[in-house]
Formats: sequence, structure tokens, C-alpha cells
Amino acid sequence: MKILAIALHKNGKPGSASFEILTAARSVGAELITAVLASDAQPAANELAGRGGGTVLAVSHPALQFINEEVYAKVLAQLIAKHQPAAVMIPATFYGKALLGRLAAMHGGSMASDITAIAMEGEALVVTRPNYGGSVISRLSSNGTGGPFFISVRPKIFAESKSGTGTVVAETVDPSCFVSRMTVVESKAESGGSTNLAEADIIVTAGRGIKGPENVPLVAELADALHGALGASRAVVDAGWMPYLHQVGQTGRTVNPKLYVAVGISGAIQHLVGMQTSQTIVAVNKDKDAPIFNVATYGIVGDLFEVVPALTKKFRAELK
Ligand SMILES: Cc1cc2nc3c(=O)[nH]c(=O)nc-3n(C[C@H](O)[C@H](O)[C@H](O)COP(=O)(O)OP(=O)(O)OC[C@H]3O[C@@H](n4cnc5c(N)ncnc54)[C@H](O)[C@@H]3O)c2cc1C
Repeated sequence: MKILAIALHKNGKPGSASFEILTAARSVGAELITAVLASDAQPAANELAGRGGGTVLAVSHPALQFINEEVYAKVLAQLIAKHQPAAVMIPATFYGKALLGRLAAMHGGSMASDITAIAMEGEALVVTRPNYGGSVISRLSSNGTGGPFFISVRPKIFAESKSGTGTVVAETVDPSCFVSRMTVVESKAESGGSTNLAEADIIVTAGRGIKGPENVPLVAELADALHGALGASRAVVDAGWMPYLHQVGQTGRTVNPKLYVAVGISGAIQHLVGMQTSQTIVAVNKDKDAPIFNVATYGIVGDLFEVVPALTKKFRAELK
């Protein structure tokens, strides 16, 4: 079976989730093709090939400097038509999910988003995905109509592919692919955070317990000391203390880091569904009965205004 893995990158550097989908594809013994699109895709393609990307298709064009979903989808549709994969995989990140939905709609095919497991059962590729915050687990396969099976893979479930051999092929597509109704003129990080929550190994999240926007830096400093990303509960986002891109939970990002530190968060179900699969959860809350402690690996019952600066000081010293 042939799988096309779509690698996503930031400024030409593939993210960890792109190496994870290589592992997912290889785990079912697939013949792997990886596509990478960029203004100059060669360096990223070389890295992907050296880390087990199989045949890596490098599509380079100035119109691919920034992600423009319309252009990316047209280019990828051409690659799909040419290489005829049985399945297409992409990281279930913000752009990955957006692209996958567009591609599946263009092909009228079957789609499974945010999968957490994949296996061959006889001839069928079967994927697993949690629904309703993990209370229902679905197992899905494609009936084979409408082109490939379109799959997005939840970050931090599969290990990154670290090594392997591959071949880079400079691929060209029809110039009409680069014609778009939209031009992306600039792409920059939102102020207040280097945040790619989906791919972060460590996340420190602020809840309403921080009392006000003036205390966001207190939590940001702990995130910084741990070399982690900064998250927020919806209460914090709704209050306008932090931007939406930080929100974790049902209506924010689903995250799965190695370490999740919840600061002043009560643990409402809508927050838990976005983070409860984290490997280690540390909760800081002054209320010993707060529901967040039901999912926490370690709980610190105390005033965050005392606990957080102490943790920051300790980690700054330890993790210089
Ligand atoms: C449809 C829907 C979707 C939703 N989606 C999301 C979502 O995506 N993400 C999300 O987070 N929420 C979501 N919510 C909201 C959710 O129900 C909660 O309201 C929200 O998570 C509460 O945020 P919080 O824990 O920061 O605030 P609170 O519930 O107010 O908790 C604050 C906590 O801080 C503690 N605290 C206060 N002072 C201190 C101190 N000095 N030291 C230590 N601890 C202190 C308190 O004991 C309390 O436990 C959604 C709700 C609905 C209805």
C-alpha cells in the first residue's frame, strides 16, 4: 500500500509532527512518499529523506513560501493524481486539519481526523480516533471510493522518525496550481508567544485563578523556565487576558505534551478533554477539591502567587 505523507514546516524546517506521521505510515508497512512544499523545498526534503521519508517529493515555487490553502491543495491534488496513494496523511495541526478537509472535499473521499492509532486489518487500513472528548472511540476504515483515505494524525502520539534512507525527487506541477484568489503577503508569530501548542513537549497553562492580565507574565515566566509553550483556559481567553491561539480545550487546541502544568485552573470537563491525555499533569490550585486534581499526576495545593515564582526560580536554576 502506498501512503502519501504531507510534511508541514515553519520557515523551511519541518515540525516534529511531520516526523511523527512518517513513523505512523511506516508502522503499517506502507510504501512511503512524502511531499514537502516550500519556496525552496530542497533542504526540508533532504532532512525528511534522511529521517525515513521514503521518496520525498520536493515542490519548490515562490507561491509556496507561506501556506495558502487554495494553492497547497491544488498542488497536492496533482501529486495525488500522479502517485495514486491509498491514503494521505498529515499532522492534525491547525493547517494540517484545514488542508485535509479541503483535500477530502475536493476528492469526495473518506476522511478521519485526529487519529491516535493505525493498523492493517487484512487488506484494510483501520484508524482509531477519539470522539466527544475521548468518551467514544471510533475505529474507521475507508470503503475505497472517492480517492485515497484522508487521515490527520494527532501530534505527540507517535514517536518522531529519527533515521532512515530516502530519495529526494524535485517535482514539478502545472503552473495553474499557483494561481490563487488569495495572496498571503506576510506571516508572523502573534505577539505574546512562541506558541505551537499542538507540537509542544511542555505546556504551562494559566486559568482564571491568575486574577488578571497583569499576572500572565508570572505564568509565562514558568513556561519560559521550562522551555515550554504558554496555554490558557477559555475563561482567560474570554476575559481578553490572552489571545485565542493559547486556548486549550474543547473549543481550543487538543494537546498531548509530556508535561502539562495547570495553574489556577478548576478542571472543567471542557478543559480536561483538551489535555487529559498529557503524559504528566501537574496542577497548582488553592482548592484541594478542584476537579483538576482528579486527572493530575502531581497536585500542589497552594496559592499560585507563591508556588509559581518558587517553581520558576527552581527550574531557572536547574535548567539553565
Ligand atoms: C461549549 C463550551 C466549550 C468550552 N470550551 C472550553 C475550552 O476549550 N477550554 C476551557 O478551558 N474551557 C472551556 N469552556 C469553559 C469551561 O466550562 C470553564 O468555564 C473554564 O474552563 C474555566 O476556566 P478556569 O478553570 O480558568 O476558571 P475557573 O473555573 O474560574 O477556575 C479557577 C480556579 O483557580 C483557582 N484559584 C483561584 N485563585 C487561586 C490562587 N491564588 N492560587 C491557586 N489557585 C487559585 C480556583 O480554586 C479555581 O479552581 C467551555 C464551556 C462550554 C460551555
